[in-house]
Amino acid sequence: MKLTLGCIADDYTGASDLANTLTRAGLRTVQTIGVPANELKLPEVDAVVVSLKSRSIEAGLAVSRSRAADKWLRGRGADHVLFKICSTFDSTDAGNIGPVMDALRADCGEKTVLVTPAFPETGRTVYQGNLFVGLVPLNESPLRDHPLNPMHDSNLVRVLARQSKTKIGLVNLATVIRGPEAVRAHLADLAGTGVGAAIIDAVFDLDLETIGGVALDHRLSVGASGIGLGLARALVGSGGVPRGASRKTEEAPIGGPAACLAGSCSQATLQQVANAEETMPVLHLDPDRIITGPDEVRRALAWAAQRIADGPILIASSSTPDQVTALQSRHGRDAAGHAIEQAMADIAEALVQSGVRRLVIAGGETSGAVVDRLGIPGFLVGAEIAAGVPVLRAVGAKEGDMLLALKSGNFGGPQFFSDALGLMR
Ligand code: ADP
Repeated sequence: MKLTLGCIADDYTGASDLANTLTRAGLRTVQTIGVPANELKLPEVDAVVVSLKSRSIEAGLAVSRSRAADKWLRGRGADHVLFKICSTFDSTDAGNIGPVMDALRADCGEKTVLVTPAFPETGRTVYQGNLFVGLVPLNESPLRDHPLNPMHDSNLVRVLARQSKTKIGLVNLATVIRGPEAVRAHLADLAGTGVGAAIIDAVFDLDLETIGGVALDHRLSVGASGIGLGLARALVGSGGVPRGASRKTEEAPIGGPAACLAGSCSQATLQQVANAEETMPVLHLDPDRIITGPDEVRRALAWAAQRIADGPILIASSSTPDQVTALQSRHGRDAAGHAIEQAMADIAEALVQSGVRRLVIAGGETSGAVVDRLGIPGFLVGAEIAAGVPVLRAVGAKEGDMLLALKSGNFGGPQFFSDALGLMR
């Protein structure tokens, strides 16, 4: 199998967002957790998004991890690699966008790289090289106070120039709206003056399609899910993505017992848990008992064992904001959060060992703890349950085929748990 598109994402949630965007645009996409082992067997897919955690680490480390991901993707035939960054260009003058871009560009021998974090559907637009977040320039948005990467300059040509060793140019909107040929001609002029990377304006989805088409002439691009959408549309539009009945085989139903775990205490999750009481047995864990010892996990597993054969169950640690604050003041916020996440991972692991093959998890950190514990190397992204929450089919899991839904905080409609189970056959 030859990959049509390779992607390296600098954080996990950004990777999921990109994988979901590519899937919606018609690319069969696997998201991997870290650089996969060489022997990982992939299903028939068009794109792989390798999720790294490299956004805020030391630049040298971000470079070496990204190069390893790039090598893996190119080794599977990816002619074009997208380095996926945050749509608010989160970085400091010390990196990591510039250094990673420089290294990947040198590795693939590319002359000019197109760079844009624009994603109009989420309010990220770039005009004259300046990034806007909603109605305001980046440096007036809440990103100016970001704890790790405070953004004080909205001019991305300048921002990237401070991080990169190459000369940075601009392809502005006036050129983009004249179409792919105008962009190609302008890029050729820039390359002639020694420009190695160009920020490219995008204000509408149509601009992303122009950019995606041109970017495919090159071996590397840098941007957020918006340019991912442009690349995917260009690939689908040019017939670069194969279609066939044989690709359906991985969508065979999995069946088997199903369980839901809720560790999120968001308003939406509290309502979803309350609604689930009408359709499945629900166990409310005692958070104090979780923190003080293993008995609560044992109680939950015994409770589950008596019911799981009869249909889906839900186990929730979720409580109201007042209760959460009280628990945190008794045990400390981090200690409480960590203990409950690990208890959820214990429960998930034991449920999977006992045969559960369909798992719905509510809570971003909770999902991370469960996925880490289960050691799942990657996911094939499937149908969307709710905006931004797809069904995930585990790839390369030691337990074999398994379906998961991972929902953070406020995502999903009021009947999220039954909506998810309805699509996880
Ligand atoms: P969300 O996506 O809603 O932010 P997360 O899983 O990311 O959900 O975060 C919820 C955090 O709250 C986790 O660290 C979890 O362990 C913790 N938690 C879960 N239940 C409780 C509770 N009853 N009291 C305090 N903290 C809790």
